[in-house]
Amino acid sequence: YQAKEGGGSVAAYDSARDAASTDQLALLAELREALKTDDQLVLALQPAVDLTTGAPTGVEALIRWRHPRRGWLGPHDFIRPVENSEQLGTFTRYVLDKALAVAAGWARDGLDVPISVNLSARSLLDPRLPTEIADALRRHQVPPDRLVLEITETVVMSELEVIDEVLATLRSMGVQLAVDDFGTGFSSLTFLTRIAVDELKVDRSFVIRMADSPEAAAIVRTTVGLAHELGLRVVAEGVETAEQRLALAELGCTAAQGYHFFKPMPADKIGAVLGTLLDEARPNVFPLRADG
Ligand code: C2E
Ligand code: MG
Ligand code: MG
Ligand code: MG
Repeated sequence: YQAKEGGGSVAAYDSARDAASTDQLALLAELREALKTDDQLVLALQPAVDLTTGAPTGVEALIRWRHPRRGWLGPHDFIRPVENSEQLGTFTRYVLDKALAVAAGWARDGLDVPISVNLSARSLLDPRLPTEIADALRRHQVPPDRLVLEITETVVMSELEVIDEVLATLRSMGVQLAVDDFGTGFSSLTFLTRIAVDELKVDRSFVIRMADSPEAAAIVRTTVGLAHELGLRVVAEGVETAEQRLALAELGCTAAQGYHFFKPMPADKIGAVLGTLLDEARPNVFPLRADG
């Protein structure tokens, strides 16, 4: 957008914006259709692993859209417009339903691993959400503590009372809560005093910079310490190298997720992977040197 830099005309800016919003309207209309089908919106699944034993500590569900015309789309291509539309409720229920169907399959196969679902901030403003989740858990016969809801700190800034109440109700049902992208919001520490959560997810930006930024390393170390002190699980996001895995283990981080272990994978692959991880879990499963 040239207008932002002061170079372009206002007219050029407006037509670009109009084109973008027309496209978003088209996308939302297409999403409405996609939500009526069963095969366009799919979940990619990414395990997190225990850094001592290699056992899976959970699996995160990440939405993908197999668009009939535009090809594969990721969350960054469509989540924002969905969040600002009336389709958010339908979308959230759709994702939860798919995720719980996957978790129900694991339960039948004796795979005792929780599934994590990302929730948009705005979906927490709907007071019907806890009842809907309770119904979905019952329908799929998944115990509440097998579901982890990942929320970001930015959620927390506005409309505090409603959100707090929705989260408290969910937690009283036995559903687990995780703070996603921990350390990137503005109110993380205050948030922890208001809402009891079960897990902190250390944002990938700190993991990436850990090796050459003492500040990033200190933030990871402090988050891990905070989690231990509060009796919470801590999971490092976006771990891509053995060096990062080792550094995290040295800082006392107990679990991690990232391409170094697994990329997000299709639902038909995840069961076998979890089975193998559970079978092969044992102390000191990872090499103690980066080149090992
Ligand atoms: P997030 O929850 O922080 O998820 C982590 C993101 O990092 C995912 O991107 C994942 O594919 C990616 N990732 C995992 N390991 C690595 C790694 O080692 N290196 C790198 N570079 N990336 C890694 P994705 O799937 O594109 O999702 C982006 C964001 O979209 C998520 O961030 C989450 O906030 C949101 N999102 C995903 N699925 C849903 C959903 O079903 N509903 C809502 N509301 N938001 C979702
Ligand atoms: Mg997440
Ligand atoms: Mg995250
Ligand atoms: Mg992140």
